[in-house]
Amino acid sequence: AHLDQIAAVDEQVHAFLHVDGERALAAAKSVDDRRAAGESLGALAGVPLALKDVLTQQGAPTTCGSKMLEGWHPPFDATVTRRLIDAGVIILGKTNMDEFAMGSSTENSAYGPTHNPWDLDRIPGGSGGGSAAALAAFEAPLAIGTDTGGSIRQPAAVTATVGVKPTYGGVSRYGLVALASSLDQAGPCARTVLDAALLHEVIAGHDPRDSTSIDAPVPDVVAAAREGDVSGMKVGVVRELGGEGYAPGVEENFQRNVALLEKLGAEIVEVSCPTFDYGLAAYYLILPSEASSNLAKFDAMRFGLRVGDDGLNSTEDVMRLTRGAGFGDEVKRRIIIGTHALSAGYYDAYYGSAQKVRTLISRDFEQAFSQADVLVSPTTPTTAFKLGERVNDPLAMYKNDLCTIPSNLAGNASASFPGGLSSDDGMPVGFHVMAPPMADDRLYRVG
Ligand code: GLN
Repeated sequence: AHLDQIAAVDEQVHAFLHVDGERALAAAKSVDDRRAAGESLGALAGVPLALKDVLTQQGAPTTCGSKMLEGWHPPFDATVTRRLIDAGVIILGKTNMDEFAMGSSTENSAYGPTHNPWDLDRIPGGSGGGSAAALAAFEAPLAIGTDTGGSIRQPAAVTATVGVKPTYGGVSRYGLVALASSLDQAGPCARTVLDAALLHEVIAGHDPRDSTSIDAPVPDVVAAAREGDVSGMKVGVVRELGGEGYAPGVEENFQRNVALLEKLGAEIVEVSCPTFDYGLAAYYLILPSEASSNLAKFDAMRFGLRVGDDGLNSTEDVMRLTRGAGFGDEVKRRIIIGTHALSAGYYDAYYGSAQKVRTLISRDFEQAFSQADVLVSPTTPTTAFKLGERVNDPLAMYKNDLCTIPSNLAGNASASFPGGLSSDDGMPVGFHVMAPPMADDRLYRVG
C-alpha cells in the first residue's frame, strides 16, 4: 500500500531519492518467514520506514543529497539500519535532504527540493524534509531523521508530524555520515507519539562502535508515551524563545498548548536562559568548523565522484576539480567559514569563544532544569515558508533553528509535536519540548 502511495504522489512531493520496492517486498516476506519459524519480533515488525539518505544501508546508494557521493554504495549498514532490519522494520528507500544535512528547507539538495504535502509550494523543512514529507504524505508511517541543529524537529513542526532528537549519545552515530560530530544525533520520526516511542526503543542504546554512545539503559519512552500523564509536572516556558520575530499565529498556538498542559495538571513556570540568544552565533562557528574537517575526506580518491582524472592533471588538481564540482554553494560556504574559524590566529577568537558560549548555554539549561522538569517553546518562529523565499538569504534561513539549536549545543533531548494549525495561514505549528540528558521519556509524556 505504501509503495502504491509513493507511486501515486512522490512525483509531486519528491520525498524519496531512492525507492527499492522489490527489496522492500522481499524484506516483508522474510519477516513473514521469521514469524513462521517462531521468532518473536517486536511491535514494529513488518512496518515500513523511510530512511534519511545520510545513513548507510548496504546495497543501497547513500548520497547525503550531494553530487559528491553520486554512485557510492556503502559496504556496510549503519547501526541504526541494522537494528531496524533486526527488528523486522521494512526499509522502503532513502529520503531527500539538504546536501550533507546543511539547511532548513531541503532546497540545498543536489537532486531538487522536496515539497510540503500540506501545500506543495512550501518547504517541508530541512535538512530532513524528505523524511517528514514522506510521513505527512502517507508514503511511510515511520521515518528516521538526523538532527544537528534542528533537522528532525523543524521538518516535523512544518509538516504536523512527530520528530524526536534523543539525548546526544542515546542513538549510535556509526554509519551516519558526519556533519558535526559533537552535535549530530539520529532519531525517530512518525505521525503519532506512540509510533515515535516504539521506533525510539528499536534504534536507541549503547553501541561500542560509537565512542560517544552512552552505556546506560534507554529511558522507558514507550511506557511514558502510553501513560501521557503530566499532572504535577513542572513545565518551564523559556522567556527568550518567543516575542519579536515570532509569527502571531505561532505565538497564539503556543499559548493555547501551554494552557492545555496546565488544564491537564501541569504546573507552568517561566524560566530564563539569557545565553540562548547567542546559540545561533556559536552554532554557526562550531558546525562549520567540524564540518570542514569531516568533509575533508571527500577528496576524489575514496568515495563517489572523481573529476579531471585524465592522466594529465595532478592529484591536487583532481581533488580541487572534484570538490569544486561535487559540493554545492552552501557546503562551500561552510567549509570556507570553518577553515577560517579554525586557522591559526583566529582559533581563539572564533572557535574558542563559541565553545565558551556552548558551556554557558549548558549552564543555562542546568539552571532551568533545576526549576522545571521540561522546557517548552515553539519549534520554529514561523510556519513553512514558500519554496525559493529564503534561498538567497542564508541568515533568514539560519533563523529557523533559533529554538532548536540550544539542545544540540548542550546535548539534551528534545522533540517537536504537532501543535495544531496557525490562524495566520492554516499551516502546521510545532510544539517544542526539551528535557535533560537521558530524560527522553519526559518528552513522550508531554507529547
Ligand atoms: N538547519 C540547520 C543547519 O543548516 C540544522 C541542520 C541539521 O540539523 N542537520 O545547519
